Amino acid sequence: MNNIKSAFSVDFEDWYQGFEVIPVDKWEDYPPRIERNCRKILEILSNHNIRATFFVLGYLAEIFPRLIEAIHNEGHEIGSHGYSHTQIFRLTPEKFGDEIKRTNDAIVKITGKRPIGFRAPIFSIIEESLWAIDVLAENGFLYDSSIYPTINYRYGIVKAERFYHQIETERGNKIAEIPVTTSKFLNLNVPVGGGAYFRIWPYGVTRWGFRQVLRDGQPGVFYMHPWEIDTDQPRIKLPLRLSFTHYTNLHSTERKLDRLFNDFSFSTMAEVFGFEY
Ligand SMILES: [Zn+2]
Repeated sequence: MNNIKSAFSVDFEDWYQGFEVIPVDKWEDYPPRIERNCRKILEILSNHNIRATFFVLGYLAEIFPRLIEAIHNEGHEIGSHGYSHTQIFRLTPEKFGDEIKRTNDAIVKITGKRPIGFRAPIFSIIEESLWAIDVLAENGFLYDSSIYPTINYRYGIVKAERFYHQIETERGNKIAEIPVTTSKFLNLNVPVGGGAYFRIWPYGVTRWGFRQVLRDGQPGVFYMHPWEIDTDQPRIKLPLRLSFTHYTNLHSTERKLDRLFNDFSFSTMAEVFGFEY
């Protein structure tokens, strides 16, 4: 295997915060499990000597500043995952700008550093919300990792570029776009960069995909959520597809991560793609 490092990222949210059917004003009804899951992720990463990028929710940064501090103190990069986990195409540019600023303020208060990277809730920069790129660039972000070049019932721009590239908007803003990894099979972009796919498919699919992109000289980009290693999380009633993608094979995540970390080397988005953080 070659020596290219891939990027490892964590979309830092609690087990009930990623459901578009549970809006932010209902979050208090659910028992938080983020502290234990955060500790567990940090332990796994430290055991493998891996620094990662955590895209954190502004909401969590306000309520659990100590957690963000602990993550940062271990040498991980802190990026932004927005404030309320509202999909961007449901927001106006003004409202999105407010979310970005509020989250940045919460993060800066903890780390003293402005985040340079952004990952949208549920990869919600799609064709109709591409305006978000301007908002990000105008708020000082150097890279975005929100455009998923695949088809999914919730997200994706299937014709988007698959690898790191610069975007220049009509308003003249520039930002780097760093998509989560897809591999090519026939004419399809197969999502192999983590999330539900990592749990649902056998580990070998991810290994095949990562080997393919590394062979092409490109770093892989992987993402996960803290709740994906939490087999004891509450089971609640959800729409069928959501329930399937959330709860399937949670027990397999840790074992598969172990294999992933043994097969490939990882670091933060900033380090892998050469950004000053
Ligand atoms: Zn998320």
